[in-house]
Amino acid sequence: MAYPKPLERLIAAFERFPGIGRRSAERMAFHVLRDPEAMELAVALRDAAENTRRCGLCHNVTEQDPCALCADPARDASQLLVVEEPRDVEAVERSQAYRGRYHVLLGAYNPAEGTEEKHLTVAALVKRLAHGGVNELILATDPDAEGEATALVVLAAVDRARLALKVTRLARGVPAGSALEYLHKGVIQDALSGRIALRERS
Ligand SMILES: [Zn+2]
Repeated sequence: MAYPKPLERLIAAFERFPGIGRRSAERMAFHVLRDPEAMELAVALRDAAENTRRCGLCHNVTEQDPCALCADPARDASQLLVVEEPRDVEAVERSQAYRGRYHVLLGAYNPAEGTEEKHLTVAALVKRLAHGGVNELILATDPDAEGEATALVVLAAVDRARLALKVTRLARGVPAGSALEYLHKGVIQDALSGRIALRERS
């Protein structure tokens, strides 16, 4: 027996979320139907979809372009910290150990799963760096295999463009295989202060 069409549509919408299979999508859909505040979710969905955009500079998610971090004159423009996702920016901000600027790649390099360099904001990053003003690029991609591969892709792009800047990587004090966003703020502080040079400014 098939579900009513509107319910099928809701289940299909949930199934599009990463890691959500048919069973979980059904559970979520039935939960929404039972929830007296369900319309709140609908309004929040529409509001988030319509009123957020990508920052034209750092590609973080924002209400205004450029975002508050890029627009803040107190942030050190000579340092640029590269992360995979907007939630990583939040994690580093929580650590209060960094006062420079950011660049969000919007993913991690994983050709086996269809994410290649062209799907990341690497070209936009190189363009941004070519404008000058950045002395140090800090690669803060996740300390897992994908994150390491992503860091190498960015490093290679910087080399290809012959950009004169120092490139560093977060220290390995961070547990291998973890994700930046889940790290305790002290761990991020240590990783930042102990960062290692991959190449010097030349
Ligand atoms: Zn920005």
